[in-house]
Amino acid sequence: MIRKLNEECGIVGVYNLEKDNASEIMYYSLMTLQHRGQESAGMVVRDNGNMLIYKQQGLVQNVFEPHILSYLKGTCGIGHVRYSTCGESTPENAQPVLRKYREGKIALVHNGNIRNAKEIRHALERNGQVFTTDTDSEVVLALIISNRLITGSIEEAVEKSMQVLKGGYSCILMTKQKIVAFKDPFGFRPLSFGKIGNGYIFASESCVMEVLNAKYERYLKPGEIIVISRKGFESIETTKSKGRFCSFEYIYFSRPDSFMNGLNVSKARLNLGRQLFKEHKLMADVVIGVPDSGNTAALGYSYESGIPYNKGFVRNPYVGRTFIKPFQEERALSVEMKLSPLTEMIKRKDVIMVDDSIVRGTTIKNLIKYLKDAGAKKVFAMISSPPVKYSCFYGIDTPKTEELLASNHSVDEIKNIIGADGLYYLSIEGLLEALKESKLGHCIACFDGNYPI
Ligand code: SF4
Repeated sequence: MIRKLNEECGIVGVYNLEKDNASEIMYYSLMTLQHRGQESAGMVVRDNGNMLIYKQQGLVQNVFEPHILSYLKGTCGIGHVRYSTCGESTPENAQPVLRKYREGKIALVHNGNIRNAKEIRHALERNGQVFTTDTDSEVVLALIISNRLITGSIEEAVEKSMQVLKGGYSCILMTKQKIVAFKDPFGFRPLSFGKIGNGYIFASESCVMEVLNAKYERYLKPGEIIVISRKGFESIETTKSKGRFCSFEYIYFSRPDSFMNGLNVSKARLNLGRQLFKEHKLMADVVIGVPDSGNTAALGYSYESGIPYNKGFVRNPYVGRTFIKPFQEERALSVEMKLSPLTEMIKRKDVIMVDDSIVRGTTIKNLIKYLKDAGAKKVFAMISSPPVKYSCFYGIDTPKTEELLASNHSVDEIKNIIGADGLYYLSIEGLLEALKESKLGHCIACFDGNYPI
């Protein structure tokens, strides 16, 4: 997938008292969530109160070789794939984070971004806590431990910590008896759970349940804490708010087969494409999409307009993902090697090219050039999201505001910069209309600058 914003992380948790195969379940879960982070992968498993950890930089299948998995025997576990939104990309900063304190070992995986992590860390350091990483995930765990020392249970400590933490977070915590999953009161980041055998599974995206043949139950509500122990299942709701779920999860972060808050991601993308046509009514010879999320939105545009849809690009899956390359020149080169235009489909045609977003504009500019070089008469860019004008502070690694093309340029200027014959964005109202089947409220702060926190 061509990426312009960087995803956050993927998390998983397994509670299963009958078999010691938690690491295998997590292996396939993390493979399924690999699109959410490719820098590092890790897991902690628990068996009879003992916890084993393994984490490394790299992709899931490279990190967890068979001999590592056979060493990680346990009935319960938590796992993580990482893209760093806080802290450098180093082996130490990989997750899960594991600590030992008076009550035994405790581990945590986290997807999101804690805005006040620095202040909390300094306060904890003044009280004698020592940190071994520079991640906000370790801060969350340290805060929970410090609250656990003055409360009667781990769930009380989590609830107390949630009153202090500011930002977007979905977390899974494992102690020697329990698994505790919790989401911030705005519910920015996704987290679902289901039943697997006689146990439970938590995962950032519901597609994990599908892949594992587990039974998807539901998404966690904003501010909800779920505790699984030998006593069974307990839910604690800390707010009745409908929250502000990240609308970008639908636009392009999540896998198309996932359900987010009652709305299937692929269906949401079709809706976005349909809505684009309703707003702009632009006709042409053919509609194509920028793989992958742009393809489904392009299909929606085609359904609504009646213009034929065709694949416009061939993707080379063996080229490394563009966004993990640190330099602009390398990024452009990777794009060049990764997507090639399907000349026969676009030659001498007016083409509508649907893409999910424009961030810096480098990718779309290259793609439009490829189409024109391949013989397209005109290329109109249709964007299935509103202009991205503001940075995200809730777990998505966006460039600084000044690097966002739409924060410094008008639509007409952007059209000229990227070399399109026309540029059309979805409106904010159109975005919300396309997502109206979702049962939660939505965060649109990167489009309108109205930050909930
Ligand atoms: S600011 Fe944008 S990317 Fe960040 S949580 Fe909100 S909608 Fe998602």
